[in-house]
Amino acid sequence: MTDKKIVWAHSPAADELPEDVIFVDRLRCTGCWTCSLACMTGNKLADGKFFVKVRTLGSGEGIDRPAGVWPDLRMSWMPTYSQFCIKCKPRTEAGELPYCVAQCPNKALAYGADAVEKIEAARQRGARIYQLPAWEDSKEGVVYASPDRKII
Ligand code: SF4
Ligand code: SF4
Repeated sequence: MTDKKIVWAHSPAADELPEDVIFVDRLRCTGCWTCSLACMTGNKLADGKFFVKVRTLGSGEGIDRPAGVWPDLRMSWMPTYSQFCIKCKPRTEAGELPYCVAQCPNKALAYGADAVEKIEAARQRGARIYQLPAWEDSKEGVVYASPDRKII
């Protein structure tokens, strides 16, 4: 059997990051959905329409069920941006942060130059820096840092 390495997500170098990059630091994300609701309210989306949804990485059963067996339980979260996300262009052009970034209570999100700095800091701490693969059909220019603790 050949040793086949599965590369499921691209890890962008600093000079590959777009100006309007959004950074998601999964170490800080608590899965509260404030980003999603802030987007919904700020962009006046219809009920049930989301530009960003928060995915739970746990057992895969139900929205917030951890993987593992007590006391060794693991769960983490990953906001995923859809192609409908406009990265709040009218706001960012006026020098303001996207609604989701501005309202995240845990500073798990960053935008633009601040995001570039935080991505490099996360890389230094040893986090895996990645983007979602094309088959996720999610917004381009959204970069993640893996959580550096005993969760997925
Ligand atoms: S990114 Fe921030 S606002 Fe969104 S779910 Fe995570 S902690 Fe909550
Ligand atoms: S960047 Fe703006 S449009 Fe995109 S998910 Fe965040 S709040 Fe919504």
